[in-house]
Formats: sequence, structure tokens, C-alpha cells
Amino acid sequence: MNVDAKRSIEQDIAHHVHPQTNLRQHAEKGPTIITHGKGVFIYDSEGREIIDGFSGLGCVSLGYHNERLAEAAMRQMNTLPFAPTFYNRSHPRVAELGERLIGMAPGGMNRVMFQCSGSEANDTAIKLIWYANTARGEPQRRKIIGRIRGYHGNTIATVSLSGQPHMHAKFGLPLPEFKHTELPNYYRFHIDGESEEEFSARMARSFEELILREGPDTVAAFFAEPAISGGGALMPPKGYWEEMQAVIRKYGITFLVDEVVCGFGRTGNMWGAETWGLKPDMVSCAKALSAAFFPISALMFKDELYAEMMRNSDEVGLFGHGYTYAGHPVGAAVSLQALDIYDEIDLIGHVRKVSKRFLERCDAMQDHPLVAEVRGVGLFCGFELMRDAKVRIPFDPAWKVGALVQDFAHDRGLYLRAIGDRISFMPPLIINEEEIDLATERFKGALDDAWAVVKNKI
Ligand code: PLP
Repeated sequence: MNVDAKRSIEQDIAHHVHPQTNLRQHAEKGPTIITHGKGVFIYDSEGREIIDGFSGLGCVSLGYHNERLAEAAMRQMNTLPFAPTFYNRSHPRVAELGERLIGMAPGGMNRVMFQCSGSEANDTAIKLIWYANTARGEPQRRKIIGRIRGYHGNTIATVSLSGQPHMHAKFGLPLPEFKHTELPNYYRFHIDGESEEEFSARMARSFEELILREGPDTVAAFFAEPAISGGGALMPPKGYWEEMQAVIRKYGITFLVDEVVCGFGRTGNMWGAETWGLKPDMVSCAKALSAAFFPISALMFKDELYAEMMRNSDEVGLFGHGYTYAGHPVGAAVSLQALDIYDEIDLIGHVRKVSKRFLERCDAMQDHPLVAEVRGVGLFCGFELMRDAKVRIPFDPAWKVGALVQDFAHDRGLYLRAIGDRISFMPPLIINEEEIDLATERFKGALDDAWAVVKNKI
């Protein structure tokens, strides 16, 4: 290890508090220092080459090196490095990006607001929904429903909406307005003999019962990822979205589709909404919007909501929401460049082509003794690890089987993400077939390594 890396580790342990990290473990083991990246590979301070099988955090769509994105950022920094979008001010890049996003958005969106993160986009959506409902004379319509294990961010409101108990514990959350409906994990939770369609109908009934219990005139919105990502790469079971959307329509609830992970090609279409036929009222996106080269996010919605905002703003004199860096010119310039690149390289066509191989290789792991279920679409795949796949007996959580696979994969030069005993595999969208072979071989090796440990415990 070179001296600089040693110094980085010391500095990091001494002062840097990491998000979403086991702090005790970090204090004892220290961080992995990533020094640079190229294509789908990242390199650590010990000179190891690692395939990034999680695209950073599901965001590095174009890999780790792109001169056009770097030049777009530099050009904008040299022209107009910052301009607020408060108080009627604007700049060419943000105006252009707004038009571009609305032109490609799913389902008749007309308006866009910019933020810096997925959390801020969803937080903005919650406030806008409350604001519009107040303007409409329904201030009591405040409850927002998410899903158990869904993830929408980490502000106080969005983490309340997320169904991640460890992010609520000790924070006094969720806030009372946020409710959670069931996790549509067919494999784990179906009743013996129940078909996927029957399971989906049961999920929708349970959603409707929640709305009725809470009082339909108090329920404002339902937020959902097209396929759950943070909860462990869960694809919707057959019929799920048809059934759920029928309930949404029945009660006139605002439907926000969170495209923070699925958006911009991950599922083999531009939007997850296209993949599963969703008809949203609002759409949030972030991450691959700028290929992760700059923090920027967007919330899109329809003119009906905008009309309510306008009405409120007329009364109050000012629309009172927004962030300093909303619509940052560098972020907008980088995003425009990323969208150009997506078109020019036909990113969606590429994902459709290589995902055949990716999913085939992933499916082949279905027979591994640790693996109970493989589910995937596009370049987005999840693995459910179980002690007994047939009768669905999970591993003892104390064995930390998911973490074991993640660590062995890392040792073999593949970064994956374990969420409990679920593994998420979502490489950068530019990955080629050779790299898919290499990554899936390393994954298979990691499963074998972990099995060698686990089989002695069974
Ligand atoms: N929504 C989804 C589906 C996400 O996966 C995430 C983050 O992973 C967010 C929202 C929050 O985005 P951010 O971390 O940029 O605030």
C-alpha cells in the first residue's frame, strides 16, 4: 500500500462518519479506498481491479471514465459555474434540460422541478402533494403510502415513507402520516398453491384494506419503485401493477413512480414505468440522469398539479419551496450530455442485447445450493439466498450469509450489494458481454466460497 492510501485510511477512521455503515466495523477495519475507475472497473489503493457490479449505488450508468461528460462539466464551469433558479432566474442549460426531460417522460408529464438527489425529489413531491391538497380544500388528505422494504430516500419524510425498519429504529420514525403496504415478494410470501396472479390480487386487496382502515379521504398518494431496488432487487409478480393501479384509480390517489434506479435504461426501457405499464401522475428521477457525474435529480408532474400550485402561489405571493443548488448549471450541462450519449450509443438497445447474456448467466445460478430464487430484468438482477429453497426456510440471520457472499465476491474482484440475504447485481449499463462473463464467473466463485463455509453449519 502506498503512503498516501495509508494516510487516507488514518484520516478516514479519525474523522469521517460514513452513511449507511456499521460504525463499529468501520472503526476496526477501516475503509476500502477507491482511487480511480475506468469503464466498469474500479481500482483500490492496493492496486486491485474490481468490477463494479452495483454501479456505485445503481447510478454509474456510463462507467467511470467519460471525456465528453468531463468536458461538458468543464465547459459549463468556465462559462457559468453557478446560477440560482430562485426568483424568476434561469439559465440556458436548465431550460433545455427541462424541455428534454418532459419530451421523454412517461405518461403526459408537463412540468419539472430540479433538485440534487433522489431524496430531495421525493421530498419535494410530498410537499407538492400536501400543498395541492390544501389548495383544493382537502388539507386532511395527507397520508402517503409506501411499501415495506421500499426505498425513497433519507430525508425525514422520505425515510418515513421508505419501509426499512433499521432506518426508523432509534430515530423516532416513521412520522405518523406515512403508512406501508405489503412487500410483493411472491417467492417468499406466497401461500402454498397460490399463483402469482392470485398473490398479486391479495397484495392489492391488502392495499385497499389499508386505505379503507386509514380513511380514503385522508390518503393522498402512493409512492412506488417500478421494481424494488433498495429492498433487494424485487421484480413485480405477474398482474401486480394491473391490480394495484386499479385500486389507485378507484380511490383517486396520486401515484408517484420513483424512477431513481429504474430510470434511464436499467430495465431495458427508458423507464421502469414502460417495462410494467405504469400510469403515474408524478415521476421522480436522479442517479443516471447525469450518469452520476454530478448530483442532480428531477421531479416531473402534470399540469393539473401545477394549476393548484399556481393557485396557492397567487394567494401566498410566493411558491415557498426549493434548494440553493436546484437546477445547477453544471449538473444540467452534464445531464444533457449524458442524454445525448444515451441516444448516440443506443444505450437502451445495448441493454436489451447484453441483458440476454446477463440474465442467462444469472439464471444459471438458480441451481446453486445457496440460491433459492433468481429474478431479473434488463441489467437488474436479484438473488434470494435460503437454507431450504423448496420449503422456504431462511438462513439464521446471525450467519450473515448475504454479507459472506458480498465479501467473497469482493475478494474475487466483484462488488455486489447484499441486503440481508438478498443480493443485488446491477452493473453499469455499458458493460459488454466479456465483462458479463467475467463478473458472473466471479459471482459464481463467491457463492462457492460462501457455500464451503455455510454447509458446515447446516
Ligand atoms: N429512490 C430510490 C428508488 C433509491 O434507490 C434511492 C437511493 O438509492 C433514492 C430514492 C434516494 O436517492 P438519493 O440517495 O440520491 O437521495
